Amino acid sequence: MLKIGHQITRPGRNPEDEPITINVPEELLTVPGVPQAPADVNFYSREYPLESQNIDLTADREWVWTVYTHEVLEDRKIHDRLNGPIVAAALNTGDIEPTSEAVPEKNVTEEIKARATQLGFGEVGITKLDMRYIFKYKKSWAQYPHAICIAWEQDYEPTQTAPSIEAEGPHFGVYRIMGAVALDLADYIRSLGYHAQVHSPNDNSGAYIPMFVEAGLGQLGANGQLLSPHFGSRARLMIISTDAKVTYDEPIDYGMHTFCNTCQICVNRCPGRALMRDKVWWRGVEKNKLIYRRCRPVMAQYEGCAVCMKVCPVQRYGMKPVLDHYAETGQILGKGTHLLEGYSLRDKGYYGPGELPHFDKEFFSIPHGKSEDLLFEDLKDQIERGEVADDPHGDTVLREFKTKVAHYVGQSVEDMMGAPPEEA
Ligand code: SF4
Ligand code: SF4
Repeated sequence: MLKIGHQITRPGRNPEDEPITINVPEELLTVPGVPQAPADVNFYSREYPLESQNIDLTADREWVWTVYTHEVLEDRKIHDRLNGPIVAAALNTGDIEPTSEAVPEKNVTEEIKARATQLGFGEVGITKLDMRYIFKYKKSWAQYPHAICIAWEQDYEPTQTAPSIEAEGPHFGVYRIMGAVALDLADYIRSLGYHAQVHSPNDNSGAYIPMFVEAGLGQLGANGQLLSPHFGSRARLMIISTDAKVTYDEPIDYGMHTFCNTCQICVNRCPGRALMRDKVWWRGVEKNKLIYRRCRPVMAQYEGCAVCMKVCPVQRYGMKPVLDHYAETGQILGKGTHLLEGYSLRDKGYYGPGELPHFDKEFFSIPHGKSEDLLFEDLKDQIERGEVADDPHGDTVLREFKTKVAHYVGQSVEDMMGAPPEEA
């Protein structure tokens, strides 16, 4: 039996459940939250601010629509149609005024947490709205100093079938449910006399995991996901920012930072070999850095993939049983078993522990960056091939180029060309 370093008491999964006590072996302890170099975090966020994939990675976001299976495509269309109004409603929530007078000396932390769990959120914590993790294009949108971090549990059974349409469908559904429920939670905060801005899970305003870690709701796993106490990485995240009178939670050392070094299941099982065995310092934080260009092609072509979520023992069994097993045996619960590590890929078959699929180089060749940047690269190629100079119809190529760029930047071609010169 390993020596226990400390015990963490967390609220039960549901409001009526008893609190749980998590025993963290001493050998797993490092720091509360995540090891970080604050000066580096400040530097990178100031000089190289984070930007949303919706802005910086439009080329592959457009490409995925061309490789989705019919079922995923239909699910996405339904999701976008149902989800659009929820995202639109969230966008304006920061401007809605409170519906009552706040009681100045009253701290409303417990009321907000209780209402969040009553509404169905499985984890809730409060910290500063850390502007260092807010996307560049959302910095002027984000209001209010405090972040209420709320996580919704994705359904257990379907997740264990990933990668599959059965797992991918509920994932979209969770975003719709939590997005809508968060609007109710924001109404409640306004009824306490404060503002509440809903940061939609489908229109993320930033990288949320660092704020969840700061609020004590888990630690970052080697799979790049939050390992939360009750449901590990099966947590879907969002925040509500507010000016309510609240108390911040503290980051916690659940031992996951070290546990992942020993576990490594997600790293070993990733079909795209997109997860790193060793931690690196990235933007001032020590972490396992996901390699996006190796993950994206698998995610897009295999129903969202999520093998790294499915095979994580903290997701499957919960953090307490996993750490108790480790303390008793020094072993990782479920490691090496088909139940935990096995998965099937459509058209490729089943892969048990130690087996990985093979993809040729072409599989990973996808467009990167912004769609309009790719257009420019295309135009340069056409110029080099002489297709512009040789164009017998004048500037057909350039005209097409302008039309496509106008499409991506949301302008008309006429606007881009400027107003016609005034007649003399
Ligand atoms: S989603 Fe799939 S490809 Fe991407 S990191 Fe996870 S396991 Fe690897
Ligand atoms: S599978 Fe293991 S290494 Fe990967 S995130 Fe989960 S606990 Fe960490």
